[in-house]
Amino acid sequence: MCRHLAYVGEPVRLADLLLTPPHSLLRQSWAPCDMRGGGTVNADGYGIGWYTGGADPVRLRRAGPMWTDAALPGLASSVVTGAALAAVRSATIGMPVVETACAPFTSGPWLFSHNGLVRGWPSSVAGLAERLPVTDLLLMDAPTDSALLWLLLRARLTAGEEPADAVASVVTEVAAAAPDSRLNLLLTNGSAIVATAWTHALWVRALPGAVVVASEPYDEDPSWHEVPDGHLVTATPSSVDMTRVGEP
Ligand code: GLN
Repeated sequence: MCRHLAYVGEPVRLADLLLTPPHSLLRQSWAPCDMRGGGTVNADGYGIGWYTGGADPVRLRRAGPMWTDAALPGLASSVVTGAALAAVRSATIGMPVVETACAPFTSGPWLFSHNGLVRGWPSSVAGLAERLPVTDLLLMDAPTDSALLWLLLRARLTAGEEPADAVASVVTEVAAAAPDSRLNLLLTNGSAIVATAWTHALWVRALPGAVVVASEPYDEDPSWHEVPDGHLVTATPSSVDMTRVGEP
């Protein structure tokens, strides 16, 4: 399954967050440690979204493996940001390997990623999709489970739901419609991170003036804490809260 990471806090170089740590997201693209039976490598594309001084985030997505992008080290060394969300993708069988299927998905201030799969896709969640505006479905980034999860979540955010409530509701309704789904969701607006651990690994680390949430720790620092399965974490540079969503 894909690996993802979100950071909010003191400005950091993207390279120091994503490329240079000993078990960075870059390394996790070819040597992840804890895939729990969901694939072997994360070579089906990658994406990074980052915030620049109050504006909506900038997004870069590519369909190839992260390690093959010769432009990335230079770019990541020159970008300093106070918040970012990045993901490397291992496409679920039957889903297209295209740039637009890569996280982060975005709208306004939001960046979103999904690590996992919707069981019985697409018929299991057709009833949920039916409730969305047809134009949202017509403009869906890619015909994948993750892109639909983003539409379901975005509809709730647009309606004014609190991010943590919206994420919990999407996980609950999709898990009910498609039992045995793997639903690690990751959302940020650049100031807070909301994420779920739903049958996949998830870790959180509070740093001085910052917080990171990631599928796998990027180093061996003892301050990484694992998020228990079935839980939702809400993290800002000053607080980390975990609540139980349900039984995966
Ligand atoms: N099912 C999603 C996709 O194919 C996410 C894959 C994953 O987590 N490995 O894009």
